[in-house]
Amino acid sequence: MEERYQPHVIEEKWQQLWRQNQTFRVSEDPAKPKYYVLEMFPYPSGRIHMGHVRNYSIGDVVARYKRMRGFNVLHPMGWDAFGLPAENAAIERGIHPEIWTQENILYMKTQLQRMGLSYDWEREIATCEPEYYRWNQWIFLQFFKKGLAYKKSSFVNWCPSCETVLANEQVIDGACWRCDSAVVQKELEQWFFRITRYAEELLGDLEKLSGWPDKVATMQRNWIGKSIGAEIDFPLVGHEGALKIFTTRQDTIYGATFVSLAIEHPLALRLSQGTTQEQAVKAFIERFRAVSQAKRGAEEGEKEGVFTGAYCRNPFSGENIPIYLANFVLMEYGTGAVMAVPAHDQRDFEFAKRYDLPIRVVIQPLDREMTAQTLAEAYVDEGVMVDSGNFSGLKSTEGKEKIAAYAEEHGWDKKALRYRLRDWGVSRQRYWGTPIPIIYCERCGTVPIPEDQLPVVLPKDVPFTGKGGSPLRESKLFYEITCPKCGGKAHRETDTMDTFVDSSWYFLRYVSAKFDKAPFDPDKGRYWMAVDQYIGGVEHAVLHLLYARFFTKALRDLGLANVDEPFTNLLTQGMVSKETYRCSEHNWLFPAELVGSEKEGWRCSLCNRPVEKGRVEKMSKSKKNIVDPEDLVNRYGADTARWFTLFAAPPEKDLEWSDQGVEGGYRFLSKVWRLVFQHRELWVNAVTNGQAGELTPELRELRRMIHRTIKKVSDDIEGRFHFNTAIAAIMELYNALNAAAQSGNRSAGAAGVIKQGLETMIVLLAPIVPHVASELWEQLGHRERLDQVPWPEYSEAALEEERLLIVVQVNGKVRGKITVPADVTQEYIETDALADPKVQGFLDGKKVQRVVYVPRRLVNIVVEG
Ligand SMILES: [Zn+2]
Ligand SMILES: [Zn+2]
Ligand SMILES: [Zn+2]
Repeated sequence: MEERYQPHVIEEKWQQLWRQNQTFRVSEDPAKPKYYVLEMFPYPSGRIHMGHVRNYSIGDVVARYKRMRGFNVLHPMGWDAFGLPAENAAIERGIHPEIWTQENILYMKTQLQRMGLSYDWEREIATCEPEYYRWNQWIFLQFFKKGLAYKKSSFVNWCPSCETVLANEQVIDGACWRCDSAVVQKELEQWFFRITRYAEELLGDLEKLSGWPDKVATMQRNWIGKSIGAEIDFPLVGHEGALKIFTTRQDTIYGATFVSLAIEHPLALRLSQGTTQEQAVKAFIERFRAVSQAKRGAEEGEKEGVFTGAYCRNPFSGENIPIYLANFVLMEYGTGAVMAVPAHDQRDFEFAKRYDLPIRVVIQPLDREMTAQTLAEAYVDEGVMVDSGNFSGLKSTEGKEKIAAYAEEHGWDKKALRYRLRDWGVSRQRYWGTPIPIIYCERCGTVPIPEDQLPVVLPKDVPFTGKGGSPLRESKLFYEITCPKCGGKAHRETDTMDTFVDSSWYFLRYVSAKFDKAPFDPDKGRYWMAVDQYIGGVEHAVLHLLYARFFTKALRDLGLANVDEPFTNLLTQGMVSKETYRCSEHNWLFPAELVGSEKEGWRCSLCNRPVEKGRVEKMSKSKKNIVDPEDLVNRYGADTARWFTLFAAPPEKDLEWSDQGVEGGYRFLSKVWRLVFQHRELWVNAVTNGQAGELTPELRELRRMIHRTIKKVSDDIEGRFHFNTAIAAIMELYNALNAAAQSGNRSAGAAGVIKQGLETMIVLLAPIVPHVASELWEQLGHRERLDQVPWPEYSEAALEEERLLIVVQVNGKVRGKITVPADVTQEYIETDALADPKVQGFLDGKKVQRVVYVPRRLVNIVVEG
């Protein structure tokens, strides 16, 4: 055994052994309970970052821990390999996206392997490979047959920088999720997945997900956005027909003083025709058409509108009210027409103030009286209806029902259920994605590619110009095709699928990664699904996690998946953050660009100006506060990297980078190494299950501590994943073992207990720092490899403080019994025996001549007479 801890030698040795022995390969074993742990797979950008290290270290501890607990553990890894960066690399540097992607995968795979992550690499997948994406196409065709995939023309979110369509879920505060550009609206024909068919189930099943963070369930609930309201007809004045408005506050209908339409509403232009407003309406529509729905719908945006020149009749008040176009009314939600109630809706209130429209209070709160003149903002809560004809005096809740019922009686209304959730637009005008398996024939129209002709392989003869339009259109070999139905002239669909399709079912592919008859083998699916523990970033709360739930349900209804929900438990880990530095001249600086010290203050090495120490922020290239995991592993080894990310914070909280923290981890592992090294011969030869009776009180306490530590670490990991407190407990155990080892007691009993402690510590460390733990285990003389050792059990009995039952005699006759802690002194026991009230009665004030102590059993008090 080397005296010094040498992480690189050890780590290489064990990684090679694990590879040779296929230690982490699994197959279905009905005799064992299964456990499926999964981390969100990475995009192969080129290098892993600290966020990956954290995510995968958490998953790996769980996988290794569950294996030691006797579970048959599935722990796979793969690559979310389609996407824009590969295409941009092709445009900028002339490298084909496939080559760029494959090179990145190879490099990142070696990086992951150097972390010692216990994956079954036999199941590795890359979504850009035809063996994978053919099943995207196959699923698309099944969806098409079931009406779950359809094509329609609509206004879509368009990112001018990515030159592609975005799903609603991919527009964050009006900007592209990927590049942050402002999203505009564009009318396009594209393919949709009918996720709305599952809206009610996606909502209801959130109740089943007790193993998910509440915040994620809430975000999905809000995104689905169910509301129960009414559709009521407002007859047009001077035109045929009526405007159908949607409302969830029909109790405020007497306060509706105008109607607002979305600019896309079919009547928007027609109502103004021939009026003096015609030009103004046209200009207004032009102005807002290019603004994204998300931006227009934003709460804080400016409320703007234009009068159409037309009126309709409020069927309840009988009043004629003006019809406006308003920028914040969305065609997507409800009917694209809303009754505007300025007194009780904040957006309508702001709009009415701006355009000087009447405000009428029709709901009064119970505790005060409001008037339209004194209203500073809309009163949006419920209350009592006033100025509402025969409905006045009713409470809001009651009024809602009565109004809806009344309208229904008169044929103006139907009860309406609404969801905020829209169908998922999946067409992308890009190259590096799954081709959509559809053909357009001049005679037969839209024709699905026959299933036996899958995969539709991405062609290679495509120029990358970045000039927009679908690049697949440029490949003659790909584009032109004969119709499989009639043999006539036809052409292929040139859009590719949203890459979120790839990740919506990859967790199912892992159960049988090479299966070639279906997306996955249903028998293996039955054994492994659902994923017991899923781990990833919270930024996927409504995108990936909602799509994956939808796919699981849709695949279940196709007779493939056997579960309703894909992920039983979800852990969303926090960010990795670090302090930032900024120069007034050179902006953000790398730590290497600083001169000076924390004490004297940092200066910029480029201009010598004082540097401002900025906030602690999420690690990012642009803020230059990143740490490259490769440097970290080169310097300290993978075990230290793992130890630090697990110890520095509980997994769901943000982790702040600290150089001292990393050094502390390395020091701790070196100390553990030294403790084993120092008296290695003694430990190897010691017998661990010595008799308790022979031990000193200190050693008996040490043995109790060993069991306490097993309990604490098990409780912290099981279900709660509090690795940080588990590691703290292991460090305490180390301190106690080290003190005992340095005490100089070289008895067989002492060596036995210390060895038991060392072995326990090593086994508890095994999931966290597997390389050094495996090596130390071997150094202690074990032939059996550490990855085959079960998790230790603690004994309740050993946890309890040992107590002795001592018989107390007076002049040789039994007069009482006392219990005392086992590790107390003789003096303590004698004093206790003399003080016992029963014994006192027999002493009767007589003088004690002497006390005889038989160790651990008996005290005899000899008194005169
Ligand atoms: Zn973009
Ligand atoms: Zn045809
Ligand atoms: Zn500078």
